[in-house]
Amino acid sequence: MKKQLFTIAIAISTLSSTAQRPAIPHNEQLEQKVEATLAKMTLDDKIGQMLELNLDLMGKMSAENPKVDRNKLKSVLQQNGVGSKEADMVMKMSDKEILDKMKNFNVDIFTNDTKRSWKMNEEMLDTIISKWRVGSILNAPATRAADVKQWQEWITKIQKLSMKYIGIPCIYGLDNNHGVTYVQQGTIFPQPINIAASFNTELAYSGAQICAYESRAANCPWVYNPTIDLGRDPRWPRIWESYGEDAIVNARMAEAAVHGYQGDDNNHLGKYNVATSVKHYFGYGAPFSGKDRTPAYISPSILREKYFEPFKRAIEAGALTIMVNSGSVNGVPLHSSYEYLTKWLKEDLNWDGMIITDWADINSLYTREKVAKDKKDAIRIAINAGIDMSMDPYSVDFCILLKQLVNEDKVKMERIDDAVRRILRLKYRLGLFDSPNTPAKDYPKFGCKEFAEKALNSAEETEVLLKNENNILPIAHGTKILLTGPNANQMRCLNGGWTYSWQGSRVEDLSEPYNTIYEAFCNKYGKDNIILEQGVTYNEEGKYFDENKPEIDKAVDAAQQADIIVACIGENSYTETPGNLTDLTLSENQRNLVKALSKTGKPIVLVLNEGRPRILADIEPLATAVVDILLPGNYGGDALANLIAGDANFSAKMPYTYPKEINSLINYDYKVSEEVGTMAGAYDYDAKVVQQWPFGYGLSYTNYEYSNLHVDKSNFTSNDELTVTIDVKNAGQKAGKESVLLYSSDLVASMTPDSRRLRAFNKIELQPGETKTVTFTLPARDLAFVGTNGKWIIEEGEFVLSCGNQTVKINCEDTKEFSR
Ligand code: BGC
Repeated sequence: MKKQLFTIAIAISTLSSTAQRPAIPHNEQLEQKVEATLAKMTLDDKIGQMLELNLDLMGKMSAENPKVDRNKLKSVLQQNGVGSKEADMVMKMSDKEILDKMKNFNVDIFTNDTKRSWKMNEEMLDTIISKWRVGSILNAPATRAADVKQWQEWITKIQKLSMKYIGIPCIYGLDNNHGVTYVQQGTIFPQPINIAASFNTELAYSGAQICAYESRAANCPWVYNPTIDLGRDPRWPRIWESYGEDAIVNARMAEAAVHGYQGDDNNHLGKYNVATSVKHYFGYGAPFSGKDRTPAYISPSILREKYFEPFKRAIEAGALTIMVNSGSVNGVPLHSSYEYLTKWLKEDLNWDGMIITDWADINSLYTREKVAKDKKDAIRIAINAGIDMSMDPYSVDFCILLKQLVNEDKVKMERIDDAVRRILRLKYRLGLFDSPNTPAKDYPKFGCKEFAEKALNSAEETEVLLKNENNILPIAHGTKILLTGPNANQMRCLNGGWTYSWQGSRVEDLSEPYNTIYEAFCNKYGKDNIILEQGVTYNEEGKYFDENKPEIDKAVDAAQQADIIVACIGENSYTETPGNLTDLTLSENQRNLVKALSKTGKPIVLVLNEGRPRILADIEPLATAVVDILLPGNYGGDALANLIAGDANFSAKMPYTYPKEINSLINYDYKVSEEVGTMAGAYDYDAKVVQQWPFGYGLSYTNYEYSNLHVDKSNFTSNDELTVTIDVKNAGQKAGKESVLLYSSDLVASMTPDSRRLRAFNKIELQPGETKTVTFTLPARDLAFVGTNGKWIIEEGEFVLSCGNQTVKINCEDTKEFSR
């Protein structure tokens, strides 16, 4: 008997020591409120809470001289389950016939240049809430930013009806992705890819904090951010939305952003906090074809070790919701995966947050992925897999079909209750039951100078100096500068997509108060010293990559009057599928512009302003200096002028590997076997890693010397914690900030090891001549990898740690498998 008790005690203690701590602490009082509300709800109430609709549906778009965008129309038809035969018939109709037929559908199928205005249809809103009990609404009408007053009016109306009919507040969500995308006159920050380039988590934190404040000023409590898809394939049109190609950078930035948005208590968010929706879970950023929302094939080991890690860390930081990847990984559409949604997220991490689909993605299970035979089948699969809320923008069919499924016992009542509990918990955590609205008067700092300054400083820390021969930069005052290239005088490309509109297009009126590169240079150097002749311009009526007939000769002529040429080249704004491309090489016109200008013999500074790295190997040698400003936002032109003039110092580093050849796309953590020198003998084994600029590369106006890399234990075990120190000295003449990056390499492992992995980073500020010691605390387990069996493992043997030009060898004395 005694023995039996003893065995039970051991079992219990083993269990409790291995049970995962809740990602968000359990709060009994809050749970009781959730249960009390749930107990009062009918099945219709519950299902309605699980649906999110697009605001467009509750209003009417009127348009002047409307023209139909057939690509948009095609995708709207597809998302609504219209078969390909019927869709083909519609496509053959004239614009007038289409508009007549679709006049009762509140969908935006107009071309970008159609002028529209949107008016709320209060009757429709009333029906949506009273009859369908809908729990969430998203988006800006026609995806165009509205002002605070308008948002307050719309969302207050929605909340009034929700409380009246359902007694449960609505949760409104917006893609406020780099500051308040959809709120006019708010603060726009650099895009996340820039924040990654700063290697400064404080920027992710404070940007999120300000965005939360300004979202709440517009009465919006939920943002679909941070985005932590690893940007590992430069062809993919969304790599700029996340924090670059490395898992740890994404993980640390995500933790900082979650804290910035949600504050310190994830059970009780304050009135300056919003809920996050960390997205897109997961493996979205590596489509095999390079095109958006197409399948990815990722080894199980890389999936867990790299793609899962940032999501895991965001959840452990308390992220309240997660949005799912629209595509499939290894043939499994994420929206259908019990394993990834319920097991990995909810069970393994003991996470009681809420999972939302991406745009109409339950429908994609039958329209695109073909794992379901119709919409009802798709709903069954997705809800049973673990989806809690369906973003089904234009249809309430979800309510009808899910109710049938419950009545047919194909979706269990327990699953519905679980989903609804998660939604209610979210609304309680946000304080929406007590205060469904956050009035604008409580947010006097909206769009203030202090926030603008923060955005400007952030931009300065995120523009990367890649080349500076003969110290041609900074450019002295009094120098005559030719500004040329399509990105020289346009806000749209500084901001990128998700800025005042989905594609970032047609919103020049809203970004008018901010400075283009040209305007910022005029302010800095005086108008008389700046010549603007673009040579190549984008065609704003066309697709994002369309350019007007080039006028290269004009730019070459203008160069005669200049001492130096600053060529602002890259891309116009885009996101998602409209941002797909057929050739990663920079446009021919832009390359011809630089080639023609180089013949003038005047020095050229290339300013790259692009969402993804466009190949430019043939023109890079023609430039004396190169600055990659990525997508720095509204203050990116001012930041560039400050940096180019030497009033601020560069401190950013590449957040991804910049490719040089289209057939050498690679990430910094490639497998060691991808780089093998020439072998002796007849067989010339010549595997080379070719890159234009490596991950982590960036210059400044000063130079840093690294010395004394030291680890406290040269022999260690898997349970140890290592303390790593390094001295960094500012050996130049100018104050600056330096990101100190610590890498490790596993020299021999049971799976071919990565060449190196970033393990930690820290940003410091140094005055000329100053030295600081940077200390990293590195649990030995951070050196582990995920083996073929999907488990983390650290193996005995040698590792090399490297930091700057310093390396040190250390030795692990044991092998251990573990889960984390
Ligand atoms: C995008 C998401 C976005 C959602 C809502 C989708 O098309 O993939 O990133 O949050 O729309 O606007």
